[in-house]
Amino acid sequence: MILRQSLLWLSERRGIFNFVRRNGIARTFASRFVAGETVETGVQAAKELAQRDITASLDLLGESVTAEDEAVAARDLYLQILDRMAASGVEVNVSVKLTQMGLDVDEELCDANMVRILDKTKALGGFVRLDMEGSAYTQRTLDFYSTRLHEPYGAHCGVVIQSMLRRSERDVEDLIAMRARVRLCKGAYLEPPSVAFPEKADVDRSYVRLMQRLLAAGNYPGLATHDETIIGRAREFVGRERIGNERFEFQMLYGVRRDLQVRLRRAGHNVRVYIPFGTQWYPYLMRRLAERPANIAFLLGNVVRESIPGR
Ligand SMILES: Cc1cc2nc3c(=O)[nH]c(=O)nc-3n(C[C@H](O)[C@H](O)[C@H](O)COP(=O)(O)OP(=O)(O)OC[C@H]3O[C@@H](n4cnc5c(N)ncnc54)[C@H](O)[C@@H]3O)c2cc1C
Repeated sequence: MILRQSLLWLSERRGIFNFVRRNGIARTFASRFVAGETVETGVQAAKELAQRDITASLDLLGESVTAEDEAVAARDLYLQILDRMAASGVEVNVSVKLTQMGLDVDEELCDANMVRILDKTKALGGFVRLDMEGSAYTQRTLDFYSTRLHEPYGAHCGVVIQSMLRRSERDVEDLIAMRARVRLCKGAYLEPPSVAFPEKADVDRSYVRLMQRLLAAGNYPGLATHDETIIGRAREFVGRERIGNERFEFQMLYGVRRDLQVRLRRAGHNVRVYIPFGTQWYPYLMRRLAERPANIAFLLGNVVRESIPGR
């Protein structure tokens, strides 16, 4: 728990990132969870997954932009990603953070950036998921979605709900009533007990409850988890309730449980992999290490093995 908190704290330190980015070993660490630093590497990873009939959502790493030109640059990269995905014949699907589009700089700027991205996405028949950030952004993200994006973009845009948050049950009901498309995850941010369940068992129980509601009444939910027990519960539930495989998808992160991704696809489930890429990989990597500190040993082991000559 202390390790998790320390890693999440480190994930927010920009100065450390500047140091880490120049470090070769850290870059090798990152390559397990991040496709690369350029648009091409992201699209290439999506093409490789498509060969196994697994779809992707590309995420340009970066969050909490503080200047207009940074937000515009991120938007332009997303426009490029959409074109590159369409040109390569993979399903057009991206995940975007509103703070990266300038939410904290100026809401109108963020709106204009999202409209550009969504107009292109709609024209290409694709989909944009608004990633969910820390709890300070939950209400703002849901409001932004429901007042500005839901109506004009309908099935081309969706949101994320985190089962760790106490408020999520109510949010899920509102989103079901709107026929909104929801990705359900546990939540990756450090949150106070006033807003989030401090016990993992409660986060997991909440996940199962929300998952069942979304499977029964939601609009093509994305079940984002690597938790095999929960995935087993989902499979049992859809079997019992006669919910077809075309009504939902499983989602996992690039580099995490690749065996399970393939197994679920072979069993006939839709599977999507979230592929992060870009230069701003440090906070993302730290959140992945915080989720499973055993990854630190795993990554170190790989680096050591790969650096032994003759292997
Ligand atoms: C597609 C996708 C999109 C996401 N989008 C968001 C978002 O918008 N906002 C947000 O806050 N969070 C997001 N997350 C992260 C999520 O909230 C969790 O932090 C993360 O998925 C770990 O939780 P878990 O459900 O896998 O369960 P856990 O209980 O954390 O893990 C269950 C098991 O999965 C395996 N596992 C989990 N994580 C890792 C890892 N990093 N490396 C190796 N094995 C691992 C382990 O075997 C572990 O025992 C997303 C996750 C996915 C898969």
